[in-house]
Amino acid sequence: MSFSERTLKTEAIVLRRSDFSEADYLVTLYTLTQGKIRAIAKGARKATSRTTGQVELYARVHLVLSRGRELHIITQAEATPDHAIFQAEFERGLYASHFVELVDQVTYEDEENQAAYRLLVAALGWIAQPETNLRLAARYFEFRLMRVMGYEPSLFRCAVGEEALAAENQFFSPADGGVVCEAHGGGRGLLPLALPVFKVLRHFSRNPWEAVSALHPTEETLGALERILQAYWVFCWSAASKVRIFCGTSRGRMHEYHPDGHPQREWAALCAHRGLHPERRSAR
Ligand SMILES: [Zn+2]
Repeated sequence: MSFSERTLKTEAIVLRRSDFSEADYLVTLYTLTQGKIRAIAKGARKATSRTTGQVELYARVHLVLSRGRELHIITQAEATPDHAIFQAEFERGLYASHFVELVDQVTYEDEENQAAYRLLVAALGWIAQPETNLRLAARYFEFRLMRVMGYEPSLFRCAVGEEALAAENQFFSPADGGVVCEAHGGGRGLLPLALPVFKVLRHFSRNPWEAVSALHPTEETLGALERILQAYWVFCWSAASKVRIFCGTSRGRMHEYHPDGHPQREWAALCAHRGLHPERRSAR
């Protein structure tokens, strides 16, 4: 095996981290060039290692890895400082946790998806900005993640009849794959899709975050967006078991999120898993 086959230079976001041994962390990384991988950060739990402080949750890290059969070994790591805000501000940390959890759910090991990687990097940047509407950013991220994973809902043509949809109140049908007109969807018990919500979804589809971030949807519209995207997410990634994702809102309440398809975890376990500290909620 040559040097280049044994070593890998890439960048990554730290999705998960747990103690591996007294000195080492086991980290799950979402990399630009290899998709999701697991690696050992040797010595990173010790104060003196070169990797200490470089493999924090949600950090964007430039890495050199030595390939192993199952686990890679991180030989060099240099983090950009952007993630510090997610440790410092609990609510932003929750949103960062939500984003990496979604990426973790829909990706497999060693499957490259550069669009998904770049979206995650960008999204962590949005929620680090003090002026960002975090709920809007979360809904936009969910929508764009669906797109880069190949699950964008149909918004411009009826998901049943395929005729062009007018900008008016419609229905949303996860099982049909998007928006459904009154003629094809009325009386079927589908989710109602009010025009303001429909407009925001179309805006999500057409525009970059820079344009979307200028929107000022009402709380009602944000709530409806959350319910629709959640229902669609559950449908797209459905399977036998469930996970709970808790997602903070602009008012600091916790929202339960139940995308099917993953092992169920309780809030405390999820926090521990993510390195978050739920008891800090009461201190805010
Ligand atoms: Zn129709």
